[in-house]
Amino acid sequence: MRRKLVIGNWKMHGKHQANAQLLEALLPALAESAGVETAVCPPYPYLAQVAELLAGSTLKLGAQNLSRFDQGAHTGEVSAHMLRELGCQYVLVGHSERRSLYGEDDRLVAEKFAAALCADLVPVLCVGESLAQRRGEITERVVAEQIQAVLQRVGINGLAGGVIAYEPVWAIGTGETATPAQVQAVHRHIRSLLAEQDPAVAAAMRILYGGSVKAANAGELFAQTDVDGGLIGGASLDAASFAAICAAAQR
Ligand code: PEP
Repeated sequence: MRRKLVIGNWKMHGKHQANAQLLEALLPALAESAGVETAVCPPYPYLAQVAELLAGSTLKLGAQNLSRFDQGAHTGEVSAHMLRELGCQYVLVGHSERRSLYGEDDRLVAEKFAAALCADLVPVLCVGESLAQRRGEITERVVAEQIQAVLQRVGINGLAGGVIAYEPVWAIGTGETATPAQVQAVHRHIRSLLAEQDPAVAAAMRILYGGSVKAANAGELFAQTDVDGGLIGGASLDAASFAAICAAAQR
């Protein structure tokens, strides 16, 4: 039985006071989703503040990115072990905004996935197709190639140490959500790809959906057989919305 997981990606939003207010409202509201694993990924500068505010709660801490390197002359980079030391348990890898705006390719994403594993972080591998790729009916191929790059680097046992988030690029931050049937089809495809390598890993792998998830559509998406929770952007900045999405995962 896979435990549902809901992760909030705050992207480049936040301020000390706003973070504290958000968490003050969110933590008690999460009582209704005690069976769901939950995490938030604030921007780097707020990780220490948020770690302190989360102390003693079940809400976990994650980061939005990491360096492929462990240490050294890499100005502006943050390593996996630094994130671990700050209390992170999760780290997003290959978010579509990293891929499209910062030129991260499949090879770099695979290196980052491996670096996260080395520091005992759980990498959340984000995969997904653009609108043109969906219209070109190559969604399954695109997603398979993105996962294959990581498999080549860390193998199926390494991949088993992470989580996969399917996020169609056309649905991220656009208000346009993939239909439950579209989501289930891609999630089932991902699980079948993994099953070719190791059926036990495939059965245990948590595959999240991300892309304009809201309180109003979360229940139907999370009810799909192969959907194990969500990666939530915009709606994670509102305590009531994020709590309602987590509660939908509980049902
Ligand atoms: C995301 O940032 O991964 C995301 C899914 O954003 P949104 O929920 O705003 O579409």
